[in-house]
Amino acid sequence: MSDPNANTTTFTGEERMFVAGKRRPARSKKVFATINPATEETLGVAADGDASDMDDAIAAARKAFDETTWCRDVERRVSSLRQLHAAMERHADELRAMTVAEVGTPLSMTYTAQLDAPMEGLAWIADLAERYEWERDLGDAAPLGIASHRWVRREARGVVGAITPWNVPHQIQLAKLGPALAAGNTVVLKPAPDTPWCATVLGRLIEEETDIPPGVVNIVTSSDHSLGAQLATDPRVDQVSFTGSTVTGKKVMAASAETVKSVHLELGGKSAFVVLDDADLRGACATAAFTVCTHAGQGCVITTRLLVPRALFDEAVDSTARVMGKLGAGDPTDPGTICGPLISDRQRRRVEEYLALAVADGGSFVIGGGRTADRPRGFFIDPTLIVGLDNSSRVAQEEIFGPVLVVIPHDGDDDAVALANDSPYGLSGSVWSADRERAVGVANRMRTGTVGINGGLWFSPDVPFGGYRQSGVGREAGVAGLEEYLETKSLAEPA
Ligand code: NAD
Repeated sequence: MSDPNANTTTFTGEERMFVAGKRRPARSKKVFATINPATEETLGVAADGDASDMDDAIAAARKAFDETTWCRDVERRVSSLRQLHAAMERHADELRAMTVAEVGTPLSMTYTAQLDAPMEGLAWIADLAERYEWERDLGDAAPLGIASHRWVRREARGVVGAITPWNVPHQIQLAKLGPALAAGNTVVLKPAPDTPWCATVLGRLIEEETDIPPGVVNIVTSSDHSLGAQLATDPRVDQVSFTGSTVTGKKVMAASAETVKSVHLELGGKSAFVVLDDADLRGACATAAFTVCTHAGQGCVITTRLLVPRALFDEAVDSTARVMGKLGAGDPTDPGTICGPLISDRQRRRVEEYLALAVADGGSFVIGGGRTADRPRGFFIDPTLIVGLDNSSRVAQEEIFGPVLVVIPHDGDDDAVALANDSPYGLSGSVWSADRERAVGVANRMRTGTVGINGGLWFSPDVPFGGYRQSGVGREAGVAGLEEYLETKSLAEPA
């Protein structure tokens, strides 16, 4: 754990991509800018890779998988992951400052999901790999009359293409790299163009401070999204692990079909926060308000539909608005800020389109509804609470990825469950009730991969995370997260 009082202002961005164990510029020598979303200042540049750079990276990963002992040497993998974890810990304050500057995340979040938690996850996966049962004996049997001794072996899939978004880059990168490497795969990471330095810094740490063999990890930055598609189509890649929007995830899945890749998808969400009529209403509403303001709502699991009992609707709206009003968008370097900027002007315009749509569909803003007046620089949007829309409206159905919460009345537990499940997504959710059994009953009926009950938090390295329906395929974290990156081989010999 790093020192929270340390100077967090200095860091050096890594401009180069990382291929075959070396940092290098793009073959074309082109670069693209990385921007501080809170100030709109250019922080610096990153290598603007093209198809030839991606080709090099895939070739390096393939070679490292096929021609080294990495995939068979668990001990080496465990020690390599521990080295990377130790390197990140040593540089945690530098990483913290860089993450706040490049992602626009509130500093406070770097002590949780934006940095410290993913580092902890890396240590956890190394421990898991050390104790994991890579081979399991199934004993003797005589299938078809042939007496045989059988066992099952778990093996790496091969080359993993990891494609990541910008909102929680360390968490998502390490939730892929950690288990993929622990399992014995080699990896090509393609980060989002908005946050290249959060990825390239790993190249620097791996090259300078670990014994991870050349080609085992490759990181290709680019302003061109099609490099992600290249990972999905290249026959040398065995698995694609994608986190991003559902629209892009569908393209990745379709592109991967041609070579029948294993596809792991962590996609969007429109999660419901369900308040039952016996719940601590103020506590629930304060939590819902806090959640949607966190990182300006740029989290796939953030609950963005607040479902409250019809009779308590006005009280719930007042309570929620009061808290959201206190969590107004602010400077992410301020330790007290919860709601920072959106990542880009493009993302802000997208959120503004949804705000206009809310009004066009008959909704109204209780608070917020547009840009933050006292922040002319940076991509800020005020926390916004919307009423007057029903669950079928586009604003209640589609992922906005901003600090925007829509409040919808429900008529009891069955109706609340139906509304919560009336969504193409199924990523997360929350239920509040004074009666634990009632809350658990509702949680069990929600068609989502995770549910928090009365404020309980499932987010942890040992807890599987992922989506139902159009929120994804597969699980990240926990034992399931490791097994996502493993093949199963069954063997038999004469008994
Ligand atoms: P995005 O889908 O636009 O991009 C994600 C990544 O895919 C980027 O690296 C991008 O360059 C790449 N990409 C773009 N087009 C591609 C293509 N055709 N083939 C392959 N790769 C391609 O998403 P974003 O805007 O970067 O991130 C926000 C989205 O991510 C939100 O929808 C959010 O819900 C989702 N997300 C999901 C999770 C989860 O675990 N379920 C976590 C964080 C974010």
